[in-house]
Amino acid sequence: MNIALIAHDKKKQDIISFSIAYKHVLQKHNLYATGTTGKLINEATDLRIHRFQSGPLGGDQQIGAMIANNEMDMVIFFRDPLTAQPHEPDVSALMRLCDVHLIPLATNLAAAEITVRALERGDFQWREIVKRTKA
Ligand code: PGA
Repeated sequence: MNIALIAHDKKKQDIISFSIAYKHVLQKHNLYATGTTGKLINEATDLRIHRFQSGPLGGDQQIGAMIANNEMDMVIFFRDPLTAQPHEPDVSALMRLCDVHLIPLATNLAAAEITVRALERGDFQWREIVKRTKA
């Protein structure tokens, strides 16, 4: 599965802790991240991650493009709901594309834990079928 990891600045520590806790699951998948998030997770866990641009510089849109191309299977996006983001339109667009293409999206730690446990259990195997039929 292709999984995107993104965290706004005040949620960076949360996504690092999450990645350490679920490294045993995440390491079995192809990981993608916005620039700074990917760098921090890699430093903390040694997980291999394809890093896009930093979010404010277009990273969210690059991940959105993968979603539009049916190349992303899951998005874990720790949003900061209490701080205005300069790239809010990109954030909204990314979440909208998840809804358009029926891509599982977790926007906080509690939802991410449920999602990653479902991933571990094989609950998202249907994505492989969707990818095959739409290819
Ligand atoms: P960053 O981008 O990982 O490069 O900080 C995340 C974001 O703010 O969208």
